[in-house]
Amino acid sequence: MNDRPFSAATPTPTATPSPSPFRVYCDFCPGYCCYRLPGSTLFVTATDINRLARHFAIADGEVRRRYLEGRNTFKVKEDGSCIFLADGRLNRRCFIHEARPDQCRAFPYDRQCPYLIRADLLEQISPKVEKSLGLTAL
Ligand code: SF4
Ligand code: SF4
Repeated sequence: MNDRPFSAATPTPTATPSPSPFRVYCDFCPGYCCYRLPGSTLFVTATDINRLARHFAIADGEVRRRYLEGRNTFKVKEDGSCIFLADGRLNRRCFIHEARPDQCRAFPYDRQCPYLIRADLLEQISPKVEKSLGLTAL
C-alpha cells in the first residue's frame, strides 16, 4: 500500500514525502489489516465513496448499496475479511488498490505495523489469513 493517493496531483520532487520505512512490508504481506477485528473497523468517508464510484463508473448511492454495511464501512465476508480482499493470493490482494479508502492508504500511520509486532493480533488473524489462502482448514 505504498502508492501516492489516487486523486493527488503529481508531486514536484521537493514535495514528494519520504516513503515510510514501514510501508515496505505491505508488499510482502497477505493483508492482515484487511480483516475486521473487535475494535478495528475500517472507516469509509464520502470522499472514499466518490472515489470508488468513479473507479467503477457508478453512482455514489450505488456504491453504498452494493458495498457498504451501515453508513461508513465496507461489508465483510464470513471470515471477517473486507469484500475487496482477494482470496488465495499471497500479496497485492486488494481488488480496488488504486481506489482504496484513505484509511487503507495511511495505515499504519508511519509507525511499525501492529499486526507484525503484536503476537495477540497475529494469533487472532493468522488462522483467518491462512484459511483464505488455502493453507489450512479453519
Ligand atoms: S497488515 Fe501491516 S504490513 Fe500488512 S498490509 Fe496491513 S499495514 Fe501493511
Ligand atoms: S479496501 Fe483494500 S486495502 Fe482496504 S481493507 Fe479492503 S481489501 Fe484492504
